[in-house]
Formats: sequence, C-alpha cells, structure tokens
Amino acid sequence: MSRRLYSIRGNDQRLDGGAMFGNAPKSLWERWAPADSDNRIDLATRAMLVHEEGRFILFEAGIGAWQSPRMRERYGVQDSTNRLIHSLDLHGLTPSDIHVVVLSHLHFDHAGGLLSDWSEDAPPRLGFPNATFLVSRRHWERALSPHVRDQASFIPELNQQLAESGRLALVDDASHPLLGPGYRFHFSDGHTPGMMLTELDGDHGPVVFGADLVPGRAWVHTSISMGYDRFPELLLDEKRTLLASLAKRHGRLFYTHDPSTALSHITRDAQGRFGSANNKGSVRGVEI
Ligand SMILES: [Zn+2]
Repeated sequence: MSRRLYSIRGNDQRLDGGAMFGNAPKSLWERWAPADSDNRIDLATRAMLVHEEGRFILFEAGIGAWQSPRMRERYGVQDSTNRLIHSLDLHGLTPSDIHVVVLSHLHFDHAGGLLSDWSEDAPPRLGFPNATFLVSRRHWERALSPHVRDQASFIPELNQQLAESGRLALVDDASHPLLGPGYRFHFSDGHTPGMMLTELDGDHGPVVFGADLVPGRAWVHTSISMGYDRFPELLLDEKRTLLASLAKRHGRLFYTHDPSTALSHITRDAQGRFGSANNKGSVRGVEI
C-alpha cells in the first residue's frame, strides 16, 4: 500500500529556553538553540500528514491562533491566523478533507490548531468537521481534571467541543480499528499522563511521531528533559527505550517542535550515544 508522508507547519512559537531544557545550563543548550534578548528560543509546532488509500490522517494540529493577543504575546505565538490551514492549502486541502486527527495529547501547542482564530466577538470553534479525533483515554481523563501544575496547558473550551462533537474516539490499546494495520501506539507518562505516540510501519523502517517525548533533535540527548515534563526521570527512561528501539530498527523520528528538522533517522554510536542523521527540514510526499 502506498503511504505518503508530509510535514505541515503550524504557527511558530518562541518560549523561554531554560524552560525548554529543564535543568540543563544555558551554556549547554544555547549551542543547540540560540536565545534572543528575552532568553527565548525558536520552536515550531509541526503536524504530520499521512495520505493513503484516498484518505488523509493528520497527527496533531499545532498551536493555532485561537489565543487572545495578550496570550499570544505571553507564549510567543507568531502570526494572528492559523498557519496550519495555510499549510494544508498549499497541498490543495482544507480541514474538511481530513478524515482522522490523532492527538498525542491535548496541550494547547499540539491541539490549539483545531480551533478557529481569535475574535473579540465569539469564542473559538472546533474545525475539521468531518474528522474523528483520536485521544488516549488516560490522557483525556487528565485533560478533564488536570493537576494545577499543568492546568494552564489545556483549553477547556476545546475539550468541551471535542466531547460534544460526537467524533471523539478514546484509545485504550496499542491499535485502533480506525487506523487499522500498520499503525501502533506507544504510551508515555513522563511529559503528561497518557501521551500517545504513533508508530507507522514503513518499507524503509518505522516512523514515530515523537510528540513531547522527543520534541526536536536537541532532545535526542538522553539526559535532557523539559521543565514542562511532569515526571522527568520517567520521561528519560521512556525516551531511552524508544531511541534504542528506533536505532536498532533503522527507525525515524518526526519532530513537532524542532524549528529546522522535521524528520531524522536515529543512530547509536559505539559508546552507546544516540544521535540523529539524514535530517530533513520538511517532508513532501515521501513514500514510507
Ligand atoms: Zn509541546
């Protein structure tokens, strides 16, 4: 079966570099991500699109432009319109053409792009009128009753509209009938409980959507976690397991937050250190 992969840029974001690299000192992380005068670094919010057998499957939706101007400023969101929609349009697609949206988790920088742009007069509305939304059941429970520590990362209006849409499908297992064979879910709790990473089978090895377990190439370093990760030690263990498995199977990782790399192979050297190779800045219809 032909399965083609595309990278779809959502709105870029600028966030505090210290927060993005946890307890790593700036002297270390600024080699990977240069900071501006406010100590902020460039981040992408990139979605992955799969085209197969006449249907389109979107993995995440980027941060979008549903935020008030004040919130946009606070979170360094670039542009006041939803770039994801423009990026789909470049491929001749609209949100109505998407059959399935797979959400790794419901933090606003991964799911906000499902909502309409901010307006003073009306609350944001859920788009993608023909899509079924896949979310892990454990993460859905977390999203409905978050801890005070990650409460600000969720969008209650989005959760409510997903629930009312009648098109929310909660995932319990490593596979789901809607996606069928060739897709497998990994669950990870280090960033947020029940985060769901999708693995796609490919003729040239597997591809995993790294979500916030490995948000970019800088985070392929096995001792690096984000300040946003709820359980950093667990996250590092989960990350090591995933990277070891990918390196062994000639696997690739798709990065949502890396500003310059969408996809790379995972390598392991003689000392056991993981790295990335064959870095692709964008992916346009690659057959996997
Ligand atoms: Zn994120």
